[in-house]
Amino acid sequence: MPFFPRPSWKVLCYPPGSPAINGKAWKVFWSMDIPHAIRTPWWRTLQQKIPTKERLHNIFPGEHTTTCRICQKENESDKHFWVGCERKWKFWVRMMNFKKIPPEIRSKDKVWSMIFLQQTRPQDEQILSEIGRVILAICITHWNCIKQEREWVDQAAFNMYQTITQPTNDRFLPPKKKKGGFFCIGGDLKKKKVCNG
Ligand SMILES: [Zn+2]
Repeated sequence: MPFFPRPSWKVLCYPPGSPAINGKAWKVFWSMDIPHAIRTPWWRTLQQKIPTKERLHNIFPGEHTTTCRICQKENESDKHFWVGCERKWKFWVRMMNFKKIPPEIRSKDKVWSMIFLQQTRPQDEQILSEIGRVILAICITHWNCIKQEREWVDQAAFNMYQTITQPTNDRFLPPKKKKGGFFCIGGDLKKKKVCNG
């Protein structure tokens, strides 16, 4: 993700359409067993730090329009960046079909509210970690499109999702599943303890 300059006070305020995140929601966020690679863009979203075109325009009005670089039709707000953009929403729908996400989750507003961890329940853990993987696939595909000046291709996002979810890809494993990690259960760490004891 490109460097983003220190935001002004105006940008730090929650823009219309973004739910305010409370202490309980932060607790859920930090308790999720998700890879660092996913937590970072998610955290930046909750902190209103994604360099959307709307945000860049607020800071550098002479240099940026507010138009989304992917669909080139609507303003790129936070919500548009993640779920509002038709091309990205098509990818969400594809992934929700692929992962058999329940029908009640399948609306832009519901996904947006789950990203902001509004009224989540313990049984939502699996759906939240799926949302996290889609967030990362969208994030990487988005910035690849910008860097390489090419169009959003649904298949490219899907390929990225598959790279992220490969069980051998250590970079994208949650902390508890990393090889040799502190939380490693039943692996080398346990064996080592048995040998030493
Ligand atoms: Zn768009």
